[in-house]
Amino acid sequence: MDDCIFCRIARGEIPSKKLYEDEDVIAFHDIHPQAEVHFMIVPKSHIESLAHATEEHARVLGRMMVLAPVLAKQAGLSDGFRTIVNTGRVGGQEVMHLHMHILGGRNRLPPMLARN
Ligand code: AMP
Ligand code: ZN
Repeated sequence: MDDCIFCRIARGEIPSKKLYEDEDVIAFHDIHPQAEVHFMIVPKSHIESLAHATEEHARVLGRMMVLAPVLAKQAGLSDGFRTIVNTGRVGGQEVMHLHMHILGGRNRLPPMLARN
């Protein structure tokens, strides 16, 4: 995906505040943080969304889940954190390359969904 922003970050073509990288995944801070600590874990291969994931992606998705607590701890989130995977239009996904948000900080996060 030539002009996908997260593919470009994964290829090093766009700078990011990188926390972690290996063959399969990259983690970097969100450019518009929604919490004291807000970063995301992204598969390097282009998967459009969680709705596009198949059995062949199980391994990299598992890696992302297992990495989340490790990177959260390294980022100082010793007392919990929140993971979010926005999916598709209804999920409010803006960047169409699957990513897992990790959010946290000193204080308890607000309710997961605003109650109108
Ligand atoms: P989502 O709504 O789940 O698709 O979230 C997309 C997220 O990507 C938003 O929180 C943006 O702030 C973030 N974002 C967009 N461009 C960049 C970038 N170049 N570097 C880091 N984060 C970004
Ligand atoms: Zn991509």
